[in-house]
Amino acid sequence: MAARIISGTEVAAQIREELRQEVVDLKAKTGVVPGLVTILVGENPASVSYVTGKQKTAKDLGFYSLQDNQPDDLAEEALLALIDKYNKDPKIHGILVQLPLPKHINETKVLYAIDPDKDVDAFHPVNVGKLVIGEANFYPCTPYGIQQLLIRSGTKTDGAEVVVVGRSNIVGKPIANMLLQKATGANATVTICHTATRDMAFHTKRADILIVAAGRPKAITADMVKEGAVVIDVGVNRIGMTPEGKAKLAGDVDFDGVKEKASAITPVPGGVGPMTITMLMLNTVKAAKLAAGIK
Ligand code: NAP
Repeated sequence: MAARIISGTEVAAQIREELRQEVVDLKAKTGVVPGLVTILVGENPASVSYVTGKQKTAKDLGFYSLQDNQPDDLAEEALLALIDKYNKDPKIHGILVQLPLPKHINETKVLYAIDPDKDVDAFHPVNVGKLVIGEANFYPCTPYGIQQLLIRSGTKTDGAEVVVVGRSNIVGKPIANMLLQKATGANATVTICHTATRDMAFHTKRADILIVAAGRPKAITADMVKEGAVVIDVGVNRIGMTPEGKAKLAGDVDFDGVKEKASAITPVPGGVGPMTITMLMLNTVKAAKLAAGIK
């Protein structure tokens, strides 16, 4: 039987509607309007498109939103000074520095300079540590989106066997840590696979929930999936061009084969992708609430 499609487009739209109302309520109660600054150094076309999407969504939700474009040759000290300025700006609750940065700038140094209370990407080591010990204020956006897709699709995580393929700092490690917490929408038994895993199919075939973030098209085929599993495909791979000249995208999962075996699956595009920006907005609202003294 073909799997149910878990639509990130639909879940993201639902969360955005909830956020729109929260922004109105927060302003009415406290006068605080969530403020997000996106800092872009240089003009990398993909980065321009990402920050434009973030700003558009922030404006649409009623945020105070600021796009700060800086030249490609901006000195590292100047970027650190800019971050310091926004760290001190009470109108700004979330600071996002679009990656990658030009080679002469040390990315780690820049991300560490962001006030952890305004770190809406949740990449600062303080926020990574808080996540691991179960005391996070912010969760990184893509893993947070994955968890919301599981919760809002009614997928039971409690006691489930979860297998994560990929151990990056932005997807694999945080989602594994989030799902093993003793908490709602988590409490799973988690296994992480990577390129040194001896027999990946042995693990993936045990998974009630299979989360794939490998960055390899068709890394997961139907023979590697348990009948009835819930499959979350995080991968975004460019596999050619459409006749209209647009990039043709594929996930990490062989969708056509796996959808016949899984009970539910996310598509690419339209699965995890639309959730990421939405969770950035949710983190910004959370940061504004914290600044207003609301938990
Ligand atoms: P990454 O940093 O390249 O990490 C990939 C991970 O997968 C690594 O841990 C690697 O293992 C592992 N891996 C690669 N091939 C494998 C294989 N054949 N078998 C087992 N493990 C394998 O990638 P990422 O940043 O996590 O992103 C992963 C994918 O998700 C990419 O396609 C990316 O575009 C996509 N993504 C989407 C969103 C979104 O919003 N939708 C957000 C972020 C990322 P090693 O550690 O051993 O090298």
